[in-house]
This record gives sequence, C-alpha cells and structure tokens, in this order.
Amino acid sequence: MEVPFKEIGNTLAEQLPPLTRHEAAVEADRCLYCYDAPCTHACPTHIDSPRFIKKIATENLKGSAATIFASNLLGATCARVCPVQELCEGACVLGAEHKPIAIGRLQRYAMDHARESGAYPVVKAAPTGRRIAVIGAGPAGLSCAGELAKLGHAVTILEKRELPGGLSTYGIIALREPVEVALDEVRMIASLGVTIQTGVELGKDISLAKIQDEFDSVVLGVGLGRTPELGIEGEEAILDGLELIESSKTGKSTVAVGRNVIVIGAGNTAVDCATIAKRLGAERVTMVYRRTDREMTCYEHEYDFARKEGIEFRFLCQPSRVVLESGQPVGLECLRVELGLPDASGRPKPISVADSEFVLEADQIVKAIGQKKPGLAALLGLETRGGFIAVDESFQSSIDGVFAIGDCIRARGAASTVMAVQDGKLAAAAIHRWLAERVDTASAAEVE
Ligand SMILES: Cc1cc2nc3c(=O)[nH]c(=O)nc-3n(C[C@H](O)[C@H](O)[C@H](O)COP(=O)(O)OP(=O)(O)OC[C@H]3O[C@@H](n4cnc5c(N)ncnc54)[C@H](O)[C@@H]3O)c2cc1C
Ligand code: SF4
Repeated sequence: MEVPFKEIGNTLAEQLPPLTRHEAAVEADRCLYCYDAPCTHACPTHIDSPRFIKKIATENLKGSAATIFASNLLGATCARVCPVQELCEGACVLGAEHKPIAIGRLQRYAMDHARESGAYPVVKAAPTGRRIAVIGAGPAGLSCAGELAKLGHAVTILEKRELPGGLSTYGIIALREPVEVALDEVRMIASLGVTIQTGVELGKDISLAKIQDEFDSVVLGVGLGRTPELGIEGEEAILDGLELIESSKTGKSTVAVGRNVIVIGAGNTAVDCATIAKRLGAERVTMVYRRTDREMTCYEHEYDFARKEGIEFRFLCQPSRVVLESGQPVGLECLRVELGLPDASGRPKPISVADSEFVLEADQIVKAIGQKKPGLAALLGLETRGGFIAVDESFQSSIDGVFAIGDCIRARGAASTVMAVQDGKLAAAAIHRWLAERVDTASAAEVE
C-alpha cells in the first residue's frame, strides 16, 4: 500500500532515544526470567516478556520480535504508547527494591529490528475463501485484520481518513509515537495480504447493507468522535485539542500555537495538548480543571511530566465563558468551585460558587475533555450501552454477523491502544469460530 510519506513532516522528535545494542544487552541481562511472570500477566495482550527479553540477551532479535508478534501485532506502537508503569513494568518483581526492567524500551528495540530488517510475521494458513470487512484502520481494526489474515481469511479495511493508523497516526503525540512508526505498522499489516482502502466512510460513501452483501462478516473498529461541547458562551473560539495534536503530528499545520495557552481538562489528552503547546513555543501553558489534582484522570507519571515541562495548574475552576475581543480569545472566565459528595463517577461533585467569576488571561484556549461517543451506532440502528456499541462476550453487536471492537465498545474503564489491540485479536478468533459454525450448519442442512 502506498502511504504518502512525503507530506508528513513531524515537528517534534520522539522523546526517548532507542536503546543501543550495549544498553539493550545490559538491560536484558538484568531480567530474572521469572516463571509465571507477573509482567506477562499484567500485559493486556499477554506478551511473553521473559521469553522475548531472553532472546534479546542471546542476540536473537528476529526470534524476539516473533515472540512479541505472536501476542501483539502492533508491538511497535505498544512499545511506545503503553502506560508501562501501570502494566508490565509496574508488575516487574524487580520494581519493589530495584529498578523494574525497561520492558517497553526492550520491546521497542526488538520491534525496531523487525522494522529495519523486514522480519515481519507471515501467513501460513491456507485461504478459507471467506471475506471480512473491517471498518476503521485504528489499532483495533488493524490488529483484527492482521489476525484474521493470519487465519487465512481475505480482509479489506475501509478507512474514512486519508491516512490509516487511527489515533496512532493522528492522535498520539509525536514525542511518544512518530507518524512513520504507525504507518510502517500499517504496511506490515498490509504485507499479510490485508487490503486497505482509505477515504471510504461507512454511512456516507458506502452503506452497511452493501458491505454485508459483499462480505461474510463486518467488524466495526470506528473509535470515538471529536471533543464534546462545553456548552459555554464563546465556545466557537475554543480549539479542539485533537485538532492541535493532529496538526502537530502531520506537519500540515493549520493551527498556530498561542503565547499564553489555557488547556481545559485533566486527562492524559489534556496533558498531551499542554505539552505540545509548550514544546511548540507557547510561553505559558495552564491546565484548568474543576476538581483538584487528587481527582485528575491522567496517569500520575503524566502529571509529573507536565510539571517538569513547566505546565501550570489551576484547580477548582469551572469555565463559564470565553472572553473575546474582535472575535479572538483574550481570557477564560471561570467560576470558583467547591467539592461536594461523590457523584456517579465516584469523585466529589464540583459545585460552582455563585457570583465567584474571575478571568484567566489567555490568547488561546484548548479543550481536551474526552471524546464523543460513536455516532455510527444510532445511524446503523445498533444497540448501545452508555452510548457505546453494545457487544456480547464474542464481540457480536445486536446485528448478526456485525462485530465491534476497540474504543467504540469501551463503556467502562480507560481506553488504551493495547486494549484495542487485544479486542482485535480476541474478536478475530471469535469471528473465525462464528464462520466455522456457519459452514458446519450449512453442511448439516445440505446433508438433511
Ligand atoms: C490524544 C490521545 C492520546 C492518546 N494517547 C494514548 C497513549 O499514549 N497510550 C495509549 O495506550 N492510548 C492512548 N490513547 C488511546 C488510544 O489511542 C485509543 O484507545 C486507540 O487508538 C483505540 O483504537 P481504535 O482502533 O478503537 O480507535 P481509533 O484509533 O480511534 O481508530 C478508529 C478508526 O476508525 C476510523 N473510522 C471512524 N468512523 C469510520 C467510518 N464511518 N468509516 C470508516 N472509518 C471510520 C477513524 O478514522 C479511525 O482511523 C490516546 C487517545 C487520544 C485521543
Ligand atoms: S517480572 Fe521483571 S524480572 Fe521477572 S520476567 Fe518480567 S521483566 Fe523479567
């Protein structure tokens, strides 16, 4: 698949350098190669970490990559974007008294080798003759498509954007994952025989009925939408944080960063927006949140990182209006907040104090308060759970033969790339079984 690399010019380099051969060998040698390793249990895709690390120690990098790919086809992305402190490295037995093994960076070392040498997985299964459409080329769709291809199915991905990769391409800041890494991973999935068509949107360019006519089953990996509305006066002058990140990643910069920037929100995306604004030249960046640092939804290490980057924080502030001059923001009016009893989220309810308005100066205001629920569910008449596409334990939606995976079904808990990848893997196995059962049923009917 041809991917228009030339148009991409990252404005920010990857934060961590790759390990050198010597560093990787020293780090791999520290591993205890634990039996029933807790790091493997802590990985949502259950990568056999001691096994791939041992292979690095013996300089078998091809074998190391193969071990990773066996559990997770998107190992290069996950090595960079996974919150390893909360997952494998957080569970490493050495963490209690020493430094945990740098599992993420070792995984990146093995994956970089695979990328540079083309040591990619190959399809060994015979073609099954079954055709599957995957909607969305994000981590969930790519993982599912790759696993289905490995099982011998003919897979076509339909992606609405110009470039595949989903949030790995457009949403995860380049400090963590450059666009080239995401696109190389897409090429690897294509090398398994997966067809990827970009610029095709389900619900606009093609209907579900047409896809169902042409394919034996359909998988929706459509992710979530843009940032929701705050519902305050002057909102039209607020920049969507996803747009800021996208512009910083793709080099097609349509967004100029302000001098004095406010970011509304306190999750990981808000920290990303604040970091990017700062690195792109903002003199002052302030994160505004209606609760306190105890209730922030970003990871603790992200909060620490933001503080080290010089990001300022204003807690217990409820934005109420954008102050405009000649249509341009000059400040954010906020109300003071007091915390009440826990609300449905389990966190203290923020209660705005009447007549407590004050203005924080800013020449750019960015919102990063999550993503909209998948709008496609209503369009296709799918059952939902809390606004997300409802699926059973086999990832079947309320329409027979239509499966759904990734962020669009993640009604509970934090969504992450590695969880989307695992959904894709498990759904591929479920679809394989579902197709086999249909063949069995059809054969039984013919015999009768
Ligand atoms: C700013 C940001 C930073 C993040 N950082 C991290 C991180 O550091 N670590 C981490 O683990 N997770 C992170 N996440 C979460 C992670 O990116 C997601 O959990 C993951 O990308 C979900 O994968 P997905 O395939 O379900 O959805 P997506 O990545 O959103 O992909 C969905 C794809 O479907 C396509 N699509 C949508 N509708 C249609 C349609 N109708 N027809 C055709 N195609 C369609 C979209 O264009 C998109 O390419 C971050 C999320 C955001 C927003
Ligand atoms: S828990 Fe730590 S020491 Fe044990 S196998 Fe995993 S990485 Fe190695």
